[in-house]
Amino acid sequence: MKIVFLGPPGAGKGTQSERLTSRFGIPQLSTGDMLRAAVKAETAIGLKAKEVMAAGQLVSDDIVVGIVADRIGEPDAAKGFILDGFPRTVAQAEALDAMLTGKGLALDAVLELVVDEGALLDRIHKRVAETIAAGKPVRADDNADAVATRLAAYRQQTAPVSGYYASHGVLQRLDGMRPVDEVTASILAALGEAPRQRSSQAANV
Ligand code: AMP
Repeated sequence: MKIVFLGPPGAGKGTQSERLTSRFGIPQLSTGDMLRAAVKAETAIGLKAKEVMAAGQLVSDDIVVGIVADRIGEPDAAKGFILDGFPRTVAQAEALDAMLTGKGLALDAVLELVVDEGALLDRIHKRVAETIAAGKPVRADDNADAVATRLAAYRQQTAPVSGYYASHGVLQRLDGMRPVDEVTASILAALGEAPRQRSSQAANV
């Protein structure tokens, strides 16, 4: 199963991707996580990406496409993967298509989580408060200026990616405003999967 998640920052892509990894036994490939790891490790890519990320802008297509090409070639991605935060430009979407076509592969689904902008800001503020309460470091780009830039980058550079996949007939738009379990259920339905029986402890995955 090869899935792409689209949606603005705070839409719930990370949360839903995590749930699908345990359901399908395939890795979540978050370009944001990979880039943050590169920044932390002070690799050449990390040093190039650090300031751009902190400002909330997009890292160059070349860098991100290179990271993804390497990552999807690793053994744990052979059965499939969930791309979270990639592609974020039409050029990245085209590069992904070329990468997959070159391996005789294709995406199974592109899922867009649709949410309204007011809710996004609330969710990001909540994430910051929870991070602080947990005594963890807050992301360098979770401040008001960087969040505004991230939303602008989404509108200008990433929103057209939905149109790209819609024109390829693979886009499914889902309401991301509903409670987390309901969004998961709608994702599973979109993927043609039946939800598992719920227990009091287990999430609906
Ligand atoms: P995220 O964790 O997905 O919100 O990504 C955090 C930051 O990493 C973004 O604001 C960008 O600076 C950078 N980034 C992550 N994925 C991409 C991508 N596909 N293209 C360009 N920049 C990206």
